[in-house]
Amino acid sequence: GVKSGQELSTITENSLSSVGSRILVFVRLRPMAKKEKEAGSRNCVRIVNRRDVYLTEFASENDYLRLKRLRGRHFTFDASFTDSTPQQDVYSSTTADLVEGVLQGKNGSVFCYGATGAGKTYTMLGTMDNPGVMVLAIKDLFAKIRQRSCDGNHVVHLSYLEVYNEMVRDLLSPGRPLVLREDKQGITAAGLTQYRAYSTDEVMALLQQGNKNRTTEPTRANETSSRSHAILQVVAEYRVRDASMNVVNRVGKLSLIDLAGSERALATDQRTLRSLEGANINRSLLALSSCINALVEGKKHIPYRNSKLTQLLKDSLGGVCNTVMIANISPSNISFGETQNTLHWANRAKEIRTKCFFSLYVLYFSLLLEVTRNMIPKPHNEIF
Ligand code: ADP
Ligand code: MG
Repeated sequence: GVKSGQELSTITENSLSSVGSRILVFVRLRPMAKKEKEAGSRNCVRIVNRRDVYLTEFASENDYLRLKRLRGRHFTFDASFTDSTPQQDVYSSTTADLVEGVLQGKNGSVFCYGATGAGKTYTMLGTMDNPGVMVLAIKDLFAKIRQRSCDGNHVVHLSYLEVYNEMVRDLLSPGRPLVLREDKQGITAAGLTQYRAYSTDEVMALLQQGNKNRTTEPTRANETSSRSHAILQVVAEYRVRDASMNVVNRVGKLSLIDLAGSERALATDQRTLRSLEGANINRSLLALSSCINALVEGKKHIPYRNSKLTQLLKDSLGGVCNTVMIANISPSNISFGETQNTLHWANRAKEIRTKCFFSLYVLYFSLLLEVTRNMIPKPHNEIF
């Protein structure tokens, strides 16, 4: 049957407290774009009961029974959002519980995954009128802090960075690539802006500017960064009194990650760039799988150092970490293949039982590995 909001929040609570709980996986369908309509595309996705996703190229509006008979085209997730689900509902179902966890000193992370144009940045950042998960999480964090303490007892810092081509860049203060350093706090990007936030009002403009600073695809001048990962980290330090009335400091970190586009390689003449990026994708994959293996085997040495992503997310690997994945899809049959891929991998992510999000990265990079296999340049006559 349909999972109620109550049930959903119970699942998340379990994942907050138990070791070996699984990644929560959500799907979000975006509305048909004007361009897609103009190209005469048809709708190939149906969402039923807020959970079930049916993928078909040919079903008519209400051809529900026929959809049910289609094998491999029916998926069930923790929740599935239709093209009219408001940002606030997406936030409440996916991330609100993690924000609650952050105030209990637990780290959490939310990944948006999907092809370029599928709605990842809309979900994460949103627009001025319809702010997304990043902004709503910060807003909620402030509201929750206000509910339980007097002002002055908390500090909230934001950092926003990009990983592109194995280079880390500060999105709040663009400049040269940042060097990663290890200190008592863990691995940090040296000189990364730690923006102290006092209210939500300034955050949207700040993040929008940050997003403008993301690396732009050289081949597609107006398109942002389909190969860059953007990571917003929100760190809340919060002073509370424990049972014996001692003042204790709680620190919780929420990582909100707008991953690079998962689509198959496009026909492009930027072969050098592409192969460079391909190499880095493989490098990250290798780094990740060796880290996982090492963690699983209980080895003393975990090779975090082999990729920027594994370094940056190191502190979320061993400890308590709650992970949410939002898979973004387009309704258009033009994107049928990409949508099928995204749903397939989101479906596999459900099976991952973990106390950290490392496995998600393995999943993600194994997908990218599959993509890079398809990157071998095609003969020109196929491109043109
Ligand atoms: P991505 O970051 O995955 O490449 P975007 O988030 O930029 O994709 O989305 C592509 C376009 O679709 C943008 O113009 C965005 O505003 C729009 N869009 C995406 N999701 C939604 C949604 N749920 N509701 C309305 N518009 C959306
Ligand atoms: Mg984007």
